[in-house]
Order: sequence, then structure tokens, then C-alpha cells
Amino acid sequence: MKTSLLRTESLVKRYGGILVTDGVSLDIRPGELHAIIGPNGAGKTTLINQLSGELLSNDGKVIFSDIDVTALPIHRRAQMGLLRSYQITSIFEEFTVQENAVLSAMGAKEHAFRFWQPMLQRKELVRAAHDALQATSLICRKNVPAKDLGYGERRQLELAMALAAQPKFLLLDEPMAGMSVQESDAVVSLLKRLKGRYSILLIEHDMDAVFALADRITVLVYGKVMFSGTPEEIRNHPEVRAVYLGEEEI
Ligand code: ATP
Repeated sequence: MKTSLLRTESLVKRYGGILVTDGVSLDIRPGELHAIIGPNGAGKTTLINQLSGELLSNDGKVIFSDIDVTALPIHRRAQMGLLRSYQITSIFEEFTVQENAVLSAMGAKEHAFRFWQPMLQRKELVRAAHDALQATSLICRKNVPAKDLGYGERRQLELAMALAAQPKFLLLDEPMAGMSVQESDAVVSLLKRLKGRYSILLIEHDMDAVFALADRITVLVYGKVMFSGTPEEIRNHPEVRAVYLGEEEI
């Protein structure tokens, strides 16, 4: 049996008396694309924030690469390769697509940006940025200032920036939100290509995308794991169908 790359043990986040995540235990293996689904307010974004380090947990553990990262801040987790899209640097509007990707690659490697050294002369960073822009099909837009990108392209740039940071594990919170059908199809194709090369945790409301991509799916309801299983097991799980999927054809 493969050991897990990211594991949580009874993770809890509460606000006052409200338990938003309530003893969540997950086990995500290297190379797996794991989707979290659940109704609005189930605690999905809160859980991803607990994994990235944006939120510290009230109880439970986050174990990444066999290291207990529960108390580590966001940048330490990112340096270890546990990375949420858009977290390393936000987009600099006046910078080109390529410069944004290079900055992200730089941010992952270094504590402080070395602005006194022209960044496009840093070969290893330019290479990482180039690979990320190629993977996200943004390479032909590399010299365009970020402010001139369309909405879908900006979301692709966020993904490219995450990839340029050379993560081991990508946390993606609704990467297709607000995209046109064509744009979200492009992201599904991209995630299919990335599958296996990275471990990915995906929160997504688009069930077609989830069932096309996921190796395993966890259903979260009222902050608790209702069930984890393969897409086939989720499809055939009577309780999941009743509570969450309803009669939706999946
Ligand atoms: P959606 O699918 O709508 O994005 P979600 O599953 O991602 O929802 P969360 O955004 O994690 O759910 O929120 C879960 C619950 O926690 C919600 O009821 C929300 O109101 C509550 N909540 C989130 N953040 C806070 C906060 N800072 N203080 C109090 N309650 C909060």
C-alpha cells in the first residue's frame, strides 16, 4: 500500500460554538487527484485553509510528507511544496505573464525577492516559469501585461504561478469558478495533463469536472466526512445520493 503524502487526523475548526470542520480525517496518496464535494457551507474552503496554513486548526493534525505541519505557518508549508494556487504572490498587474510566473518561482525558493538581480537573467527561474506557462497554454501570451488578460486567462495565470513554484501538492479551490464553458473545458484538460505529476486536492462544484478528474472523492456535509471513495463508489452510495447528489444524473 502506498503511504499518504497528505494526511489529516480529526481536524477541527470552530468559530465560537460552531464547528465548521468537525473531525475531518483524509488520506491523500502521491499522484492522486482528490476532490472534495459537499453542499454550500459544508466547510470545504475552511478545510483547504487549514491545509494551506491560512487558518490554524483548533484540534487535530495535518501531516505532510510524514512531517507534522499542523503548527507551521503558510509560507513554511509552501516552501515544503504544499501550495495553494495564488498564495505565493498575487498577480502584479503591470508585469508581464512571464514576469509574474518568474516572480512566483522566485518566491517559492527564496525568503526575500532579490530585486537587485534582473529576474529574467535567473535561468533556473525562467525555466520553471516557461514550463508552467507551457503547461497552462499561456506561453503565447508571455509578453502580455497581466492587466490585459481576460478573466479565464487570469485564472490560468494563477495556476501557472502555482506550478512555477514547483509544488509537490496543489490545493485548488474552485479553479473553474466564473469561467466560460470553453475556459473550464481548458482547465479540465490541463488538470488531466497535470494528474499524476502532482498530487492535487480539488474543491469544485462542477460535478462533470469532478467525475472526469478525480481518483477519489470525499463528501463533506456539515463539516464531517460522510464518505470517501472512488467516483464509482460515490455514484452508487445511497446516502450520498440522497443527501447531496439528489437525483442528479452523474
Ligand atoms: P461554499 O461551497 O459555499 O463555498 P464551503 O463548503 O466552502 O461553502 P466554508 O466557506 O468553509 O464552506 O464555510 C463553512 C461554514 O463556516 C459556513 O457556514 C460559514 O458561514 C462559516 N464560516 C466560515 N468562516 C467563518 C468565520 N470566519 N467566522 C464564522 N463563521 C465562518
